[in-house]
Amino acid sequence: MLQIKNLQASVNGEPILKGIDLEVKAGEIHAIMGPNGSGKSTLASVLAGNELYEVTGGEVWFEGKNLLEMPPEIRAREGLFMAFQYPVEIPGVSNINFLKTALAEIREHRGLPPLSAKEFMQRLKEKQELVEFNASLVNRSLNEGFSGGEKKRNEILQLAMLEPKLAILDETDSGLDIDALRIVANGVNKLRSKSNAFIIITHYQRLLQYIIPDYVHVLYDGRIIKSGTKELAYELEEKGYDWIKESLQASL
Ligand code: ADP
Ligand code: MG
Ligand code: MG
Repeated sequence: MLQIKNLQASVNGEPILKGIDLEVKAGEIHAIMGPNGSGKSTLASVLAGNELYEVTGGEVWFEGKNLLEMPPEIRAREGLFMAFQYPVEIPGVSNINFLKTALAEIREHRGLPPLSAKEFMQRLKEKQELVEFNASLVNRSLNEGFSGGEKKRNEILQLAMLEPKLAILDETDSGLDIDALRIVANGVNKLRSKSNAFIIITHYQRLLQYIIPDYVHVLYDGRIIKSGTKELAYELEEKGYDWIKESLQASL
């Protein structure tokens, strides 16, 4: 589904990503962990197509297509979903209208007719129940005045409605309380399937007690310096990131 080869990126001429290799297959959940400032959010931004970040080398293939050549909105229509640490608030655009427009664009891109108003409402109702989303929130402006937990619920409702192939959730440093973590985890666990994949970016191991990843990668100074299975997350929790840095230095 996703193939990242030797990806390098800079901000203001400063190299941040220094050669990332990662392969994600359908049905998999990958966790990306790492100390603050290692480049986790930068990786998500580059995959989303944020033009603040200049790609200086490498390749990214998404379902066999060159992701780096696609404008951000086409990436989304191709089935890439990005949930950021700080979701945007869009005053004046109701949640429901945002979902309607986004879904219509994705369907059009795939050659599907738009859902009728009735079909849309039915799907919304179904998904709201699935992710336990409070009905009154859909008519509010997008994320405006939402609490942290409500924003997370909203993110999960968007996921449920838009059914992306690959969802990248950047939860780093967001100070999520335990309820918000559970919302995200329950949502991901309900929505995961053989045909989609998730990349969960997190500084903390706690989220991975609720979402069991197939693979864990440690990003440090713009490179993935270690990959493993879920046990690696437990090891990091126990020994901290210094252990990784030390074992890296020892191997040089
Ligand atoms: P992480 O998400 O792992 O904490 P980031 O990707 O946010 O790390 O940041 C990696 C490095 O890139 C940091 O040194 C950070 O200061 C720098 N960086 C990220 N985004 C920007 C930006 N927009 N402008 C300047 N520096 C940035
Ligand atoms: Mg950070
Ligand atoms: Mg970050």
